[in-house]
Amino acid sequence: MKLLEGKTAIITGASRGIGKGIAEVFAQHGANVAFTYASSAAASDQVEKDLQALGVKAKGYKSNAANYKQALDLVDYVLEEFGSIDILVNNAGITKDNLLMRMSEEDFDRVIEVNLKSVFNMTKAVQTTMLKQRKGSIINMSSVVGVKGNAGQTNYAASKAGIIGFSKSVALELGSRNVRSNVIAPGFIETEMTAKLDEKQVDTWRKAIPLRRGGTPEDVANACLFLASDLSSYITGQTLHVDGGMLT
Ligand code: NAP
Repeated sequence: MKLLEGKTAIITGASRGIGKGIAEVFAQHGANVAFTYASSAAASDQVEKDLQALGVKAKGYKSNAANYKQALDLVDYVLEEFGSIDILVNNAGITKDNLLMRMSEEDFDRVIEVNLKSVFNMTKAVQTTMLKQRKGSIINMSSVVGVKGNAGQTNYAASKAGIIGFSKSVALELGSRNVRSNVIAPGFIETEMTAKLDEKQVDTWRKAIPLRRGGTPEDVANACLFLASDLSSYITGQTLHVDGGMLT
């Protein structure tokens, strides 16, 4: 059964990693997918082709999620091209890790802008459309680090914790119009990025996870599929932990 047939989704940061996994699973379930990237034009072209091969409409847009004007423009382009927006996945994110002692003001601000302000930008940009439709699902990508904290990631943890508060408030503001807002908090997800880490270190992390493995982009994508689809039509304001039991 295709769970997103005929729906249109915007996914930020889907040229690689988790966002790309979400785009693929959404397309397999019949969604038309508009996605963004920051600089990976070639990777974005490939994702666009792969999604189109699944028989859906797909388009990649170079759009800086941290920039309010670009978020507004993006939504205009997508509405023109796709006609509606049913699902928004705020996935784009970066890290600039350092101990607080060594963290620069620029690195703090940049992570807050890309990870947290982007969620404000995109949610503001889609809200009128979703309110008018009287339906919509907004999914925001937090992290286990936003719930637990992590040494060396004060900027990232603050941005990811902020997403949870923002998302719950949106759930309260837009619930009466059937617009839902939920959070996914992934644990350790193995992507091209983590493949570059020291294998021994990664193996120690894997052993500390109750399910004894890192997650895959598909694990996160399947949780997004549930929150995007009508299967979760009575669920809003929640945080779904996709972390193999890390927080247990
Ligand atoms: P990733 O592999 O580094 O991919 C990040 C994506 O975001 C790329 O498509 C990138 O585009 C895009 N992006 C970066 N800055 C952007 C901006 N300013 N505007 C628009 N797009 C931008 O990251 P990931 O591991 O898949 O993580 C995806 C999300 O999950 C992030 O929010 C991350 O914090 C969260 N998360 C990840 C993990 C994990 O273990 N991997 C765990 C918990 C939470 P370009 O390719 O053009 O740079």
